[in-house]
Amino acid sequence: MTAKLYYDDLYAKEFDAKLISQSEHNGKFHIILDRSLFYPSGGGQPFDTGTLNGVEILEVCEHGDDIIHITSSPIEGSDVHGVINWDRRFELMQQHLGEHLFAGCLWNLHHVHTQRMRIEGDNVSIDTDIPVSLNAILEAEAAANQAIWSDIPVDVVYPDMAEIRELARKLPPENAVPPVRIVKVEGVDYVPCCGLHVSSTGQAGLVKITSVENHKGGSRIYLRCGKAAYRWLASLYHEVRKAETELVCGYEGINEKIAVLKSQIHTLKVQNEHLTVRCLKPLADSLLNDAEISGGYKIVRHIMKLSTQDEIKHLFRLITENKKVIALLSCVNDEGVFVMFGTDRANKDVDVRSAFRKAIGILDGKGGGSSFSAQGWGKNSEHLNDALDTAVNELKGSLTL
Ligand SMILES: [Zn+2]
Repeated sequence: MTAKLYYDDLYAKEFDAKLISQSEHNGKFHIILDRSLFYPSGGGQPFDTGTLNGVEILEVCEHGDDIIHITSSPIEGSDVHGVINWDRRFELMQQHLGEHLFAGCLWNLHHVHTQRMRIEGDNVSIDTDIPVSLNAILEAEAAANQAIWSDIPVDVVYPDMAEIRELARKLPPENAVPPVRIVKVEGVDYVPCCGLHVSSTGQAGLVKITSVENHKGGSRIYLRCGKAAYRWLASLYHEVRKAETELVCGYEGINEKIAVLKSQIHTLKVQNEHLTVRCLKPLADSLLNDAEISGGYKIVRHIMKLSTQDEIKHLFRLITENKKVIALLSCVNDEGVFVMFGTDRANKDVDVRSAFRKAIGILDGKGGGSSFSAQGWGKNSEHLNDALDTAVNELKGSLTL
């Protein structure tokens, strides 16, 4: 049985212990001591890291009454000196208390239950049983920070089950054997928990919500606490400074500047479209003039080099706004070969789909569409002429039927 020193002194960083056993399992060593400061994984809180007699610990877990320290090499001697990675432990205690404060406030203000908590790196995530509005989440965040500024002591108590049933925001698991460990922050939270927390709310530093998503009928809320919240805000500040420099404004003006830029982009897109259509009009006219005629239809076949999909679509529109015309247009660029076949929208006598399917097959591509307009991308641009020949023959065949 390992004595759990972390419950006696939350702020101890080093300890001495006796080796009880050491055994090898698949190349790793399982070390059991008579006492330990290393917290094993539990209650959403990750295990502590650090060293035993200078040997790095890979993982810590609980097995019955024992704490198992897993290392990649054995330790020397029966007297063991352990050192925990204090910076990591302190941050985990900040994160864990920050989570209690937020979850407690969410329960007190909105009666929302939290079902699962997890600390992963700088992120704490909480799942709720029902969807929670952003306003309710931000209210709980503000209340949690108010509790931090009030610097309330964090007490660990072992009350009877009647009191727990009356006061706890969450009941212990049914198989929990009394006494049940309750973590209590007067006026804010009262909950069963086996984890470790900083000893007063002020040390949690800060609670900041970073994102919210829908999750299994409830919400998954991401927050950062303490030093992790500070790191997040520092990187946010860095990004905002860059935006301020680029947009030549203070952070309050960023959204207004973005709105102006979006509106300018829209205007430029419209102007660009007009110019493109104007530039393509002479090409459309000459293609119509020179088109092969079959079965009373002008068959316009054209390959544009290094053009965009948008340009092809504009050219397609300029051609197919005429009656008795079939267009087989394509462009080749770095992304592959784009093909667009069609006729005027009102034409019920021509169906381009069969010709399109044959061509896109030759091009090893994908796409589809309707009887009057089909488009897609292919990979084999070297077979483009073959594909267009096949499509033209297919269409000619259908026109003479
Ligand atoms: Zn806890």
